[in-house]
Amino acid sequence: MTDIPIDNMLMDFGIAYNEYPNARNALFEWGVIQRSPHRANIAGSKSCLAREVLTAAFLWHCNNGDCRQAANKDADGYGDLPPLLVVKQSECDICGGKPSARSLDEMSAALAAAGRSRILVVGGTERKEREIREKSPPCVEWRFVDGKVARDDRYYRPDRNWAEIIVIWQSTPLDHRVSAHFDGKGDRRVITVRRRSIAALAGEITGHVRRR
Ligand SMILES: [Zn+2]
Repeated sequence: MTDIPIDNMLMDFGIAYNEYPNARNALFEWGVIQRSPHRANIAGSKSCLAREVLTAAFLWHCNNGDCRQAANKDADGYGDLPPLLVVKQSECDICGGKPSARSLDEMSAALAAAGRSRILVVGGTERKEREIREKSPPCVEWRFVDGKVARDDRYYRPDRNWAEIIVIWQSTPLDHRVSAHFDGKGDRRVITVRRRSIAALAGEITGHVRRR
């Protein structure tokens, strides 16, 4: 595959122009860009990896005031404050370009149409759980599994049996010793959400039940 300009790649990701130096430094630290963070080009085949690294390294948020505020408070759930990265709205981890309440409404309608209501979320933070419970229509039933404390399989069994949809919420505090109890191969209830926003979570669930 041919090389592509790093700045174009960052623009495609929706990253704000004044954040390019931060993004480049992170890519350099993680070895995705080699020799110097100021290089012009990167192998096109690395763009997927670059996005993964930047998603893991930063909390992506848009410039809308509520999102900025929420991004700054996100430290509550994550321990250390993840470095922030300003991106365009559609890529925002907080609002996902869409109010979370609206995406939860869409999700609820899709679930109702599919005759499902019981969602088990593995991972996430207390803040996210509160917000989901507040904004979600009442006909959706939620249970949450703390991703930080690994327990015996017996502990998880009742929730696992109860769930109609199991969401593995990556990029939130989630120990693989916890998620390992849920991501059984071939379990068609399981979906993996890689982005942190509630809108992304709801959107993935909507897509999942519509596909089936
Ligand atoms: Zn936003």
